[in-house]
Amino acid sequence: MVSSTDNQYTKKAFGWAARDSTGHLSPFDFSRRKTEEKDVTFKVLYCGICHSDIHMIKNEWGFSTYPLVPGHGIVGVVTEVGPRVQKFKVGDKIGVGFMVASCRSCDNCANNLENYCPRWILTSGGKCHDGTPAYGGYSNIMVADEHFVIRVPENPPLEVAAPLLCAGITIYSPLKYFGLDKPSMHVRVVVGLGGLGHVAVKFAKAMGLKVTVISTSPNKREEALTRLGADSFLVSHDQSEMQAAMGKLDGIVDTVSAAHPLVPLIRLLKTDGKLVIVGAPEKALELPVFPLLMGRKVVAGSKIGGMKETQEMIDFAANKHKLSMVKHTLLDKSIDCNAAVVLLIEKKYLAK
Ligand SMILES: [Zn+2]
Ligand SMILES: [Zn+2]
Repeated sequence: MVSSTDNQYTKKAFGWAARDSTGHLSPFDFSRRKTEEKDVTFKVLYCGICHSDIHMIKNEWGFSTYPLVPGHGIVGVVTEVGPRVQKFKVGDKIGVGFMVASCRSCDNCANNLENYCPRWILTSGGKCHDGTPAYGGYSNIMVADEHFVIRVPENPPLEVAAPLLCAGITIYSPLKYFGLDKPSMHVRVVVGLGGLGHVAVKFAKAMGLKVTVISTSPNKREEALTRLGADSFLVSHDQSEMQAAMGKLDGIVDTVSAAHPLVPLIRLLKTDGKLVIVGAPEKALELPVFPLLMGRKVVAGSKIGGMKETQEMIDFAANKHKLSMVKHTLLDKSIDCNAAVVLLIEKKYLAK
């Protein structure tokens, strides 16, 4: 067992950390490991924020440990590489997503599915294999094994690429795997409209899909249709709208991160339709079986994507200039990062 005070943890770093589950962040001085043989050290330029950060900061999933430095959609520029690094050099623009390590020897790892490795390590809030905490991207520098680093192309701009490393791959992977990525099939993708939902709509549109947004809130209609470019909009508690849409959808990507009923969504699916859950509500969802049997429907889950697919996703995004709306703030001791957390909790973290 190694502690962060041991010799290899010599790089002084600064970040913002939650010290408990109150939801408040404060400045945090800590150390990162020195650049090891296969490591890439980089200066963090941008880091996204999403609802998973809030779940972690507030310990809503029940496994957070403190201090916790959030942030898992991170882009930056390489400042140092270890002697056995092959893919990157100093000055390269790179990114790190939701994971920083896995066992590298199980079947999942062998099949480019490190995200499903039983020993995967979360970028933020996880515990590294040496027992030290994994501190996320709300910090000035990061160190990561090159296998868990991706190359970020010139486009999209770096600040746009950052949230794609979480939300982009979370949408891209299930659309591909479940065959919901073919515009010729008139596949429709339906999402909730939170932080992940916004990126999902943009990304699904960039993939050429028809997108219907379902939301509890009718006042998101204009935002969904005009600003995000969705093709249609449904209010989930409007019985007549939902009734009219029944049996019309090939696929649903459910990004809602709070507890919600599944049956109304299942009813929207065609025969053989697929409901893929990518949000992670802290409470269990109820799954009545009968509506599934009636249409050979599938309810599935999906969690980010492997490293190979994450690189593929960002390369796909390279020429999609309007993928994400972002606004950003500097990471500095004098600038209160809590503003971003509060805005996200209030679901207002959108560029105007
Ligand atoms: Zn593994
Ligand atoms: Zn995220």
